[in-house]
Amino acid sequence: MVSNMQGNVIVIGAGAAGIYAAYLLKNQGFEVQILEASERWGGRIFSYDGFDTRSIELGAEFVHGKRTIFHQMAIDKGIAILKNLGKDYYWYKNEIIKSKKLEHNPDFINYWEFHDYHYNYRGEEIGVADYLHSFDIPADMWHIYEDFAAEYGTSLSRLGMQSLAIESNRWDAGEENYRLQNTTFSALLSDLHSRIADCIVYGADVRHISHTASGVQVVSKDCKMYVADRVVISVPLTILKSGIINFEPTLGERKQVAIRQIGMDKAGIKAFFKFDKPFWKRKMGFLIGAQIANEYWVSHYDPELQSNILCAFIMGEKAERLAKLGKKAGIEQLIAELDSMFDGEPSRRLTDFYWKDWGQDPFIQGAYSYPSPHSAKLRKALARPIENKIFFAGEATNFNGHFATVHGALETAERVTEEIYESFLRPV
Ligand SMILES: Cc1cc2nc3c(=O)[nH]c(=O)nc-3n(C[C@H](O)[C@H](O)[C@H](O)COP(=O)(O)OP(=O)(O)OC[C@H]3O[C@@H](n4cnc5c(N)ncnc54)[C@H](O)[C@@H]3O)c2cc1C
Repeated sequence: MVSNMQGNVIVIGAGAAGIYAAYLLKNQGFEVQILEASERWGGRIFSYDGFDTRSIELGAEFVHGKRTIFHQMAIDKGIAILKNLGKDYYWYKNEIIKSKKLEHNPDFINYWEFHDYHYNYRGEEIGVADYLHSFDIPADMWHIYEDFAAEYGTSLSRLGMQSLAIESNRWDAGEENYRLQNTTFSALLSDLHSRIADCIVYGADVRHISHTASGVQVVSKDCKMYVADRVVISVPLTILKSGIINFEPTLGERKQVAIRQIGMDKAGIKAFFKFDKPFWKRKMGFLIGAQIANEYWVSHYDPELQSNILCAFIMGEKAERLAKLGKKAGIEQLIAELDSMFDGEPSRRLTDFYWKDWGQDPFIQGAYSYPSPHSAKLRKALARPIENKIFFAGEATNFNGHFATVHGALETAERVTEEIYESFLRPV
C-alpha cells in the first residue's frame, strides 16, 4: 500500500511496533514523529555489545516460527537462520538427563502431551496450576511444568487454561524456534530504524494524551506538548497498567478491563554467565526445570565451536523473588544452583556475568503479555482505536495469537497503519 497521504501522526514508543509503524506510515506519505521515553530505540529488543566478542540478546533472542514477517525480513536480508539450537536436557531428580533418555518416562510423556497439545482443552476457564493439580503431577516435575509457564513470561498460577488454549489455537507461525546467525535482532531492524531515525525524539516520556474532533495533544513529563492528527500508542502493557499515562477523556470501560485483565508481570530477568571453559555436554542447548531459574540455555549454541556463555531465564514468581533479592544475591543464587548441577565447576570457571532485570526498566516494567484467566477475547478491545484518533499497537494488542513476540509486535504495526489509512479516507 503506497500512497501520498497527508496528515501527521505521533507514534509513542520506539520498540519493534513503533519503528515499523513509523516506517510504514512515512512510506504512505504521513509526517511522523516518534516519542520515545528512553535514550535508545528497540525497547525489548536489546542486542548488547559490551559483554563478549559477540552481542548478547538481553531481550528477544529466538525467532518463533517461520511463517512470520520477522523470519521473512531475515531471509530478505540474506541472514542465515539456525535451526539447531542444541538438545534439551532436564534437571530431574537431582540429575541432568537428556530428553532422549526420558522418552519412556510416563511423567515426561504426560508433560510433553500437555506442552504440545494444551490447545485441545475445551473446558471452562480455570487456572493452569489448578488444572494441573487435578492430575496429581509429581512434585519433582513441577519446576519442569513451571518452565512451560516461563515461556509465556509468567508462572502456572497466573495463566488461564481456556484463554491459553484459545490463544494457542490462533498461533499459525510454525512450531520451530530459530536463531539468527552472525547477526543480532537490533541489526535486523536497523534498516527500518535508519529510515525513520530523524523522526525519533528521545527522552520524551509521555504522560498525557487528550483528543478532540480536531486532533490529538500529547504532553511529556517535561511538559512539552506535541500535536498531531492521529496518535499510535505502542508502549508495553505494564505501562498502561501503571496508569502513568493519563487519558482525556478517560478510556472506556472495556479498554480499562482489557488493560487490567490481560496478564503481564512486572518482572522478567535474563542473567548471562561467561566461563573460561564450557563444562556442559557439547550438544546441550537447554537445561530445563531448575528451581531458581526456570531454565538455562547456551548462548550462541554451535555444535562445532562450543560457546562458553550460559543464559539464565527467569520469569513470573521466580523473577519477582530474585528481583527482590537484587543483582548481587540473585547472581549468587543462580551460580549456587549451577554449582549444584555441575559439581562446583561454574563458580570455579566464572569470569564474568551480566544481569538484565526487565521489571526494573522504568519504561518496560516487565517481560511480555500472557493469557491470564478470561483474557483471550480482550486483546481486540485493547487494540480497538478510539474515535479514529488514538490507535493501539505493540505485542499485547496482537489478537492473532502472536502476542509476546517480535513478529507479533510488527504485525500490529501493519494493522495500525491500515487503520490510520482508513481513518483518513473515512474521517468521523
Ligand atoms: C526477556 C525477554 C525475552 C524475550 N524473548 C523473545 C524471543 O526470544 N522472541 C521473540 O519474538 N520475542 C521475545 N520477547 C518479546 C519481544 O521482545 C516483544 O514482544 C517485542 O519486542 C515488543 O515490541 P513492542 O514494540 O510491542 O514493545 P517495546 O519493545 O516494549 O517498545 C515499547 C517502547 O515504548 C517506550 N515507552 C514506554 N513508556 C513510554 C512513554 N510513557 N512514553 C514514550 N515511550 C514509552 C519504551 O521505552 C519502549 O522503547 C522477549 C521479551 C523479553 C523481555
